[in-house]
Amino acid sequence: MSAYKQHLKIYNSLSSKKEAFKSINKDLVGMYVCGPTVYDTVHLGNCRTFISFDLIYRYLKHLDYNVRYVRNITDVGHLTDDSSEDKIIKRARIEKIEPMEVVQKYTNEFHSILNFFKLQNPDIEPTATGHIIEQIEMIEKIIKNGYAYDKNGSVYFDLISFSKDFNYGELSNRNFDDIINESRTLDGSSDKKNPQDFALWKKANKSHIMKWRSPWGSGFPGWHIECSAMGHKYLGEKFDIHGGGLDLKFPHHDCEIAQSKSVYGNNPANYWIHTNMLTLNGKKMSKSAGNSVLPFEIFNGSNNIFSKSYSPMVLKFFIYQAHYRNTLDLSDEALKASEKAYEKIKTIYKELELIVPGNENDCDAELWIKNCYSSMNDDFNSPKLIAEFFNLYKEIQDIKSKSKNIDSVNLKKYQEYFSIFYTDILGFDDAKSEKNQLGEVLDILLEIRDKERDKKNYEVSDLIRDKLSKLGININDEQ
Ligand code: AMP
Ligand code: ZN
Repeated sequence: MSAYKQHLKIYNSLSSKKEAFKSINKDLVGMYVCGPTVYDTVHLGNCRTFISFDLIYRYLKHLDYNVRYVRNITDVGHLTDDSSEDKIIKRARIEKIEPMEVVQKYTNEFHSILNFFKLQNPDIEPTATGHIIEQIEMIEKIIKNGYAYDKNGSVYFDLISFSKDFNYGELSNRNFDDIINESRTLDGSSDKKNPQDFALWKKANKSHIMKWRSPWGSGFPGWHIECSAMGHKYLGEKFDIHGGGLDLKFPHHDCEIAQSKSVYGNNPANYWIHTNMLTLNGKKMSKSAGNSVLPFEIFNGSNNIFSKSYSPMVLKFFIYQAHYRNTLDLSDEALKASEKAYEKIKTIYKELELIVPGNENDCDAELWIKNCYSSMNDDFNSPKLIAEFFNLYKEIQDIKSKSKNIDSVNLKKYQEYFSIFYTDILGFDDAKSEKNQLGEVLDILLEIRDKERDKKNYEVSDLIRDKLSKLGININDEQ
C-alpha cells in the first residue's frame, strides 16, 4: 500500500492543478472541512459535499495516514443574504423556540442523516459558539496588525489595508480592483470603510439573543472567523487540507485565507479541495432557491419529483458515479439507472464467494487492484473506481459462463480488495454481512433442530429440514 501512497494526486483549487500529495508531517494529515449551518434540515446537495469528504477521509486513512478530520458546526454568525439577521435566530423566531434548540434539533438531524449514508464521524466537531474566546483573540490580533478596524461596536476586515501587503482573492482568482468596485453590500452596513470589507464581529442590539461580551461591546462573531479560529486551534498555523463546497470558495475561503495571513502571515492550508454542486434541473440545489430535496423525502418516496423511493446506498452510489469536481444533476431517471447499476455491483462479493476456483487462471487480480488504486489516486476518482467494479462484474460473468478460469490466489485477491474498496473506502453496506448474518441464523436454526431431535421431537426437526430443503439448503443427517 505504501507504494500506492506515494502516487496520490489531489486537485488543488489554489493552483487549479492536480498536484502530488505531500503531507506536512510524514504520516499525519490535518483536514478541515466547513460543516453545516444548523438552522434547517440538510438537503441532498449538502450531503453530496459531506459524502465526498467521507471518501477522502476514508481513503487517506486506508493509505495509512493518521488523519485528524475537523468538521465544524456553524451555530452562530451566518447571516442571511437578504438582511443582517443570523440564520439561526431567524429560524428560532419563526419556530418560536430558543436558538440553541434550533441548533440542537438540526445538529441531531444532521448526524442522523449522515448515519443513513454510513459516513464516519469527524475526529473533532467543534461549534462556533464553543470557540468565542478564540475568535475574539484572533480578531484582536488582526486589529493589532492593522488589517481590521472597529466602528460602533462592530469590527470589519480592512481589505484595502490588507491588499497593500498581501494578495486577496487568490483562491477565487478574483482581481482585487474588481472586488473593490463591486458595489453590493452584503449586510447593508454603513460603518464599513469599503463595501467589501467583511464583518469579523457584529454589534448586537438589545433584543438580540445570541451575544457575547467582547472588547468592542456586546455582539457576536462573523461567519468567516470561526473557521480560521477553530482550524488554527485544532490543526495549527499550517495544515494539509481545507475543504468545502465550491460555493464557499468565495468569499468564505478567501476571507479565511486573508484572516490567517493577517495573523500568521500564511495561507492556512496547503491543499484546498472544493466539491461541485448537486443540481436539480440544472440549477444549484439550495434552500434559498426553494429547490432543495431532503434525503428523507427520497428514502421514503414522499417527494413528487420521484416515481419511487430510493435507498441511502443508491443515492450514495449515484453521487459516487460522478467525480466530486463535476456538477451532478438529480433526476428520477438518473436515480433509476443508479439503482440498477448498484443492484449489480452489490452482488459482486456474493458472486465471488460462489465461484469454485480451478487450477487454470485467465484473470489478473493484481492488475485490477492496481487500476483501483490508480483511480483513487487520481484525485479520488470514484466513477473510475466504479468502472473497475463493472470490469470485475464482467469478469465474474465470464468465469461463470466458463469462458474464463480463475485460480484460488486470484479469487482471494478479488474478494479481499473488492471488500476494501467497496466497504472500507466507498463506505457501502458490508457486502459480506448479509451472507455472514444469514449463515449465523442458519447455525442457530440447526442447533435448535439438533436439540429437538435429541428430544425425539421429530415433528419439529423434520419441519425445519423440509422447509430448508425447499430453499435449496439440504441437511445430511447421516454425517
Ligand atoms: P451550508 O449549511 O449552507 O453552509 O452548506 C454546507 C455545505 O454544503 C457547504 O460545504 C456547501 O458548500 C455545501 N453545499 C451547499 N449546497 C450544495 C449543493 N447544491 N451541492 C453540493 N454541496 C452543497
Ligand atoms: Zn468555513
